Amino acid sequence: MRESPASGKFHLKSVTSHHLLDSREMLRSLALGGAWLLLWRLAVLMEYAPHASIWFPPAGLSFAAFLILGLRALPVVMLCSLIATFWVDDLYQMQQSWVQLAYTGVLFGAAHSFSYYCGAALLKQLIRRSFSDALPKIILSFLILGTLSSLLAALTGTQVLAGSGLIEPQDAGAIWLPWWIGDMAGTIVLTPLFIGLLSWRYPLIESWLGGLDFQRSGEGMYGFLSKLLISTSLLTLTMLLAAKFRYSEVSFAVFFLIIPQMWIVYTESAFRAALSLAVFSILMAIWVAALSLMDFALVYQFAICVISASAYFGLAVPVLTAHNKQLRELALNDSLTKVASRLYFFEQAKQELARAKRYGHPISLLVFDIDHFKQINDEFGHTAGDKALIAVADTISKGLRQSDILGRFGGDEFLLLLPGTALDKATETAERLRQALQAVKVDGTRHFLSGSFGIVQIEPNEDCQEAFERADECLLKAKKAGRNQIFSDQR
Ligand code: GH3
Ligand code: MG
Repeated sequence: MRESPASGKFHLKSVTSHHLLDSREMLRSLALGGAWLLLWRLAVLMEYAPHASIWFPPAGLSFAAFLILGLRALPVVMLCSLIATFWVDDLYQMQQSWVQLAYTGVLFGAAHSFSYYCGAALLKQLIRRSFSDALPKIILSFLILGTLSSLLAALTGTQVLAGSGLIEPQDAGAIWLPWWIGDMAGTIVLTPLFIGLLSWRYPLIESWLGGLDFQRSGEGMYGFLSKLLISTSLLTLTMLLAAKFRYSEVSFAVFFLIIPQMWIVYTESAFRAALSLAVFSILMAIWVAALSLMDFALVYQFAICVISASAYFGLAVPVLTAHNKQLRELALNDSLTKVASRLYFFEQAKQELARAKRYGHPISLLVFDIDHFKQINDEFGHTAGDKALIAVADTISKGLRQSDILGRFGGDEFLLLLPGTALDKATETAERLRQALQAVKVDGTRHFLSGSFGIVQIEPNEDCQEAFERADECLLKAKKAGRNQIFSDQR
């Protein structure tokens, strides 16, 4: 088969974008590896017992990388684990041979990658199967899988290091627990931030994150920084007090700092909430080391895990509020014509009626329906019909007062409430609208529209439904009398 010039061009274009994608992937892998190794060195600075730091950020990065990149993250994580094994040997002066270290490094990398890959793959499955309002469930799954993955990583990791002699076999029993807590803190606290960073400029990620907005917004930066400053100052104060008095009771005060963190979660974007938790936890780890608060390391680790877990559940609140707003807008506005929905129209009408009765003002209800609308659909198609309905709503809206309310009852029937208007003035308005409708053309045709109107003034002893029924009867009379007319019901 001969290739057409057009398909050849397309082929060239797709090859170019493939190359671009490759170089972007390469850059991302490089950044991932660099960050992983940097975080490992940072964790060593926070070490409070051999092989146990206050939190282990590379764990959070591995989890996030497997979640977003899947198995594509494996070579980078394996290579980093290998390098880290050489660094462990150097750090604790084990002086093992290169061959032995390479072997241990591969095993350690496999244990670390397997643990976090399994957790991340499972979580991805759960997220993909969830609906967008299932955020609390997703967060619960993330917390459980993050905890289990770090447990598996700690158990298998200590076994590998003990098996190869990098730690004494009898120490493995004492090391796995702080290893686990450190990895868990790194995973639970930092994974969401790393997801945000790794998904930067990858908007596709948003669709399966359950509506979590990880886009970095530049709005109100000053407000966010002030909140961050307050929260970190309170943390510093709390930890200085703990260092001065050295009672475990004082160190427990750190749990109160959930309050400023929740404030940030409820009022800022998901990315900023994750960023704030990361800053908070880094500062906490720095203070533990600087103020020699190693004895209370466990308190701080638990505090940061509990604060983060609560904060991530809190992320569901702004998302649910946004969904609620969206649903409300859908329920209140007619999706085609953007005028009030039937539900909202009657809700508003009830309030207006109550006000009119209280102040003794007149109020009128107008119902109108397009004439022979079925014919328009049949002759020009439903798209033309839809456009005609939009044109009707626009034309009528233009001829109304601010206080008048226009709604769509359904199909080609509309409702109009005229507060402060008695029947005679309402009839004048209807006549104006009837003439305006006559000037509306079905888009792209020579067909002009017309409408039939029914009007009533709502009586003091009448409710909206009764008034509507009366107006609808008038409309029916207008249709029977030949259409393009106005009928009113004077009581
Ligand atoms: P009449 O003068 O007696 O009102 O005649 P009619 O043909 O307008 O009859 P009727 O009001 O009963 O029919 C309304 C038609 O409007 C029926 C339906 O096919 C069409 N319709 C209802 N909703 C929509 C819509 O959202 N878009 C379009 N294009 N057509 C709609
Ligand atoms: Mg009609």
